[in-house]
Amino acid sequence: MNLYSICKQQVYETTMKLVDADLIRLSYGNISMRLPDGNIAITPTSIPYDRLEPKDIVITDLDGKKIEGHFNPSSERALHYEIYKVRSDVNAVVHTHSRYAIAFSSVCMELPVICIELFFAGAPIPVAPYQCPGTAEVGTSAAAYFKKRPDLKGLLLQNHGQVAVGNDLNEAYQMAYNVEIGAEIYHFALQTGKTPNILTEEQVADIIRQYRLPRALPK
Ligand SMILES: [Zn+2]
Repeated sequence: MNLYSICKQQVYETTMKLVDADLIRLSYGNISMRLPDGNIAITPTSIPYDRLEPKDIVITDLDGKKIEGHFNPSSERALHYEIYKVRSDVNAVVHTHSRYAIAFSSVCMELPVICIELFFAGAPIPVAPYQCPGTAEVGTSAAAYFKKRPDLKGLLLQNHGQVAVGNDLNEAYQMAYNVEIGAEIYHFALQTGKTPNILTEEQVADIIRQYRLPRALPK
């Protein structure tokens, strides 16, 4: 197996994990990884996940030029490329149209630090203003948030879904899961009619120390 085949297999396996976790369905959402040579392996456009095969993953350069693959890359590829351009620590991107992420993004509510899942994803998770899905503006808008906050691992896209990033595919998958499960938990908490407790700066500092996270302590 050459490098591209290995990476296609890894993107495929992460895609299937996201299907199993009910984070992506049909052909909505997309997954990519940055390769050691700087190129990108990304899911193809419009291929339902139940028909997807490892060989269908497309290899492009960072400007979207196709290098290898019999399908076209995801129509939302700009979202991936623009984030890679501003965050050298990011080597994998997961974008989902998952239900709780879309629900909170549609009412423009950010996700506060109410649990460790959201904290690990960089909560408070902001909401990037609406841009038409598939346009370059979705990418430039989202990338601005990730550039401004180097600790940010997840972002809601208004009326659209979420995008999560990681140092590798496993972390990007985990962060997408954290954002969605955190949004679901926040939803259930709000249903009680009470105000969910948001962790204090002191409690956040304790988590950073406990898990020895490479993050600045709150002032
Ligand atoms: Zn989308």
